[in-house]
Amino acid sequence: MAYQALYRVWRSQRFDDVVGQKAITQTLKNAIIQKKTSHAYLFTGPRGTGKTSAAKIFAKAINCKHSVDGEPCNECETCVAITEGRLNDVIEIDAASNNGVEEIRDIRDKAKYAPTQAEYKVYIIDEVHMLSTGAFNALLKTLEEPPQNVIFILATTEPHKIPLTIISRTQRFDFKRISTQDIVDHMGYILKEINVDFEEQALYVIGRAAEGGMRDALSILDQTISFSDEKVTLQDAMQVTGSLTYEMMDQYISSCVTGDVEQALETLENILSSGKEARRFLEDLLLYCRDLLMFQQAPKLLAEKVGNLTDNFKELAGQTAAEKIYQMIQILSDTQNDIRFTNNANIYLEVATVKLAKSVKKSAVISEAVQPVESAEITTLQQQIEHLQKELTELKKNGVTAKEAEPVKTTRVTSNKNALRIPTELVYKVLNEATKDHLLNVKNVWDDLLQMMSVTQRAMLKASEPVAAGPNGLVIAFDYEIVCGRAMDDDELQLAVHNNLSRLVNYAPDMICITKESWPKLRQSFISQNKDTSGDQTNDDQSVEENSHLLAGEEPAVEVNNLVVDEAIAMFGDELVEVIND
Ligand SMILES: [Zn+2]
Repeated sequence: MAYQALYRVWRSQRFDDVVGQKAITQTLKNAIIQKKTSHAYLFTGPRGTGKTSAAKIFAKAINCKHSVDGEPCNECETCVAITEGRLNDVIEIDAASNNGVEEIRDIRDKAKYAPTQAEYKVYIIDEVHMLSTGAFNALLKTLEEPPQNVIFILATTEPHKIPLTIISRTQRFDFKRISTQDIVDHMGYILKEINVDFEEQALYVIGRAAEGGMRDALSILDQTISFSDEKVTLQDAMQVTGSLTYEMMDQYISSCVTGDVEQALETLENILSSGKEARRFLEDLLLYCRDLLMFQQAPKLLAEKVGNLTDNFKELAGQTAAEKIYQMIQILSDTQNDIRFTNNANIYLEVATVKLAKSVKKSAVISEAVQPVESAEITTLQQQIEHLQKELTELKKNGVTAKEAEPVKTTRVTSNKNALRIPTELVYKVLNEATKDHLLNVKNVWDDLLQMMSVTQRAMLKASEPVAAGPNGLVIAFDYEIVCGRAMDDDELQLAVHNNLSRLVNYAPDMICITKESWPKLRQSFISQNKDTSGDQTNDDQSVEENSHLLAGEEPAVEVNNLVVDEAIAMFGDELVEVIND
């Protein structure tokens, strides 16, 4: 015997079998018992919530001679014929495929004739919102002058697409999404009937994935059964629905909450390499965060809804401030927007992971007073160096010797702590000696380099790109300011790039971090500066590589610089100034 899908075999045949729509089925039964049926019904609601099943049960109940309490007997010739879809007086139409005016006219003509076998002729029009305007008008005419003993049942998932003139002539029933618990109970009942063993938690995973639709739930259950060996396990259900265990989510989220970037990224990598799709994972993460919030407010309600909450989850919900969860939800939904049109969803997810772990960490260690002092000092120092370097550039440009220059001002520069400081002079230094070949060398080994890095380092570099390179320096542009700032401060990362590159390309450039956003401007200002000193070389429209190549030039401005370099050494000491000769 050919295999029949569960949702067909287990389609409800009595009103009492329709899951999760008690109010509606009771009202319909009462109408039949009291013989107060309407000539037109509108069943609305999400897919798989029982609309067409209820319509067919209604067609049987109203025509069954042995109906008891408004339920069909399901045994008489009429009931069986309707169940098997071969009673001429019960006509099912799928408007998605029969949307022409002709078909509805046909209905109108035929509806005039009295039923032949049954007492009532019942038209069930599924997806009725798909009818054309002309067809709706034809239908309206029929509904305005309803023929004797004819009942229309219109079913739709999109009631807002149905003309009000039609709606006002029907009795409307809104089918609700079926609760996860109801779906789980029903699946459990079916599995027991067909003697298939199962783990209770597997059913909750399927129930959640079905989002309130019994037909979807039974389809997923079908797939899971064919996937399983004898027993429907939680693991099988996860595989089929692509959902994650709460345990895995627990691990990921708690790493983020404790600010353990490394652990969070490692968990993420495991999750993604197990075949999880990035978009789906983001949805699961959002759901998880929402569950955390819900659990804090109404633990019982959530327990009923989800069914299988882990101890870790409860612990996390107890420990994490609602503020933090809101923050995480914000980062996650921003990321959801970012990945909508990209092929690199995994990279965004990795960046989001760094953000999640970092943002939480920042707010968690706010009381550590030592660090801000240190970094303030560094900022001041950095600003002083920058200031000196600026003057150096001026000197270089104007050809004035250092001795004539004014003493360096040490006045404090008010800092903008939020803005990332781009090391302009360091970038210029690299550009001065950059060549296309050096850049190509680095680009050729970039993937290998990433493989040599730790998980955290790799994630940071994945959202970056080398844009200029010379024998001693390498400019890397990052997609995100936050990652760029982190890379700048990360000595280990810089050292790792330096060392690993030395193994791959036989020289060891230092890494200069900038944002992608700042790159065009940096390049442009370098070009115009170069134009001032050496005239005819540049063309604004040339590509980055060509610029670097051209500017880095066959004839670097070493001679011009020598005097300046001497002065610089005098000013900074020779440890700070590296003199570069090709
Ligand atoms: Zn019957």
